[in-house]
Amino acid sequence: RNLKWQIECRADIGRLSAPFLAIYESLIPAEEEKAKQKKLLTLLEKLVCKEWPDARLYLYGSCANSFGVSKSDIDVCLAINDSEINKSEVLLKLADILQSDNLQNVQALTRARVPIVKLMDPVTGISCDICINNLLAVVNTKLLRDYAQIDVRLQQLAFIVKHWAKSRGVNVTYQGTLSSYAYVLMCIHFLQQRRPAILPCLQGMEKTYSVTVDDIECAYFDQVDKLHGFGSRNKESIARLVWAFFNYWAYGHDYASNVISVRTGSTISKQEKDWTRRIGNDRHLICIEDPFEVTHDLGRVVDKFSIKVLREEFERAAEIMQHDPNPCVKLFEPY
Ligand code: ATP
Ligand code: MG
Repeated sequence: RNLKWQIECRADIGRLSAPFLAIYESLIPAEEEKAKQKKLLTLLEKLVCKEWPDARLYLYGSCANSFGVSKSDIDVCLAINDSEINKSEVLLKLADILQSDNLQNVQALTRARVPIVKLMDPVTGISCDICINNLLAVVNTKLLRDYAQIDVRLQQLAFIVKHWAKSRGVNVTYQGTLSSYAYVLMCIHFLQQRRPAILPCLQGMEKTYSVTVDDIECAYFDQVDKLHGFGSRNKESIARLVWAFFNYWAYGHDYASNVISVRTGSTISKQEKDWTRRIGNDRHLICIEDPFEVTHDLGRVVDKFSIKVLREEFERAAEIMQHDPNPCVKLFEPY
């Protein structure tokens, strides 16, 4: 495997950046879409404040982490500063309020792993999930957004990888493949590993931002405007990075022994985390440490069937990037 990882990149890789950048540009949401999201958030704030005057609403997920492609749903967190609340009751109450204000398809999913209310706003056409007090997600959204400010190649790579994962059907957690959040962490990790590095390890630097959420201290260097140009000594083009990304996940990563860790800017051993065997439903076949909730393996949804699917997809993509005359077409072909 290691030998293949050392293979030389095709000579004509340079000519492939333009079509990849065109795909990236086509996925960027229009300003108009952002404005509609704001409008919906303002409406929701108005409705929520009537019932819970001290509550706050936060956008999180791809509508706020800079990795949202156009026409994404929005994720909203309702923060109620009261440890006594019963989440199910709040969700049902919230669903009631939203329904009476003409929002459509309102559904309270109180038994989901992350309980939410779903809705669709007929005015803007936007669908939205609202969860309660999921502040870790709000904080990891900020971390991703801050990383995105440092080097535009992260956003470009992540858009391309998310688009590939959706086209190939490997972005479906209930089928044992990975979440968008996991793919973005894989991109950050990968860019931290380039030499010269394209991204730093923000959690390994001086802590300029610190909050404690659910007893977890979330702290890192967030003055990212001071890090502009961090990766500029590395001149790799986007096409070269897409090529290397798929090679890394096809042939370079040691699935048997290693955990990728954005928190440390490196890999750590499965041994060290005690992620070497199956415990309950957690099989640890591909290990991606959550940057804050470090006991959480984002790869835990992956089972012995879906790991095969995933690795074959990485190998397919690596192969296309190395040999196909027109990789931008083949890579995103529907499965
Ligand atoms: P998409 O564009 O596909 O909707 P997304 O980033 O919004 O991408 P979601 O799956 O909707 O992805 O997740 C929303 C947010 O919830 C993530 O950005 C992340 O902050 C948080 N999140 C999702 N899955 C996990 C997880 N397994 N553990 C911790 N946080 C998660
Ligand atoms: Mg989302």
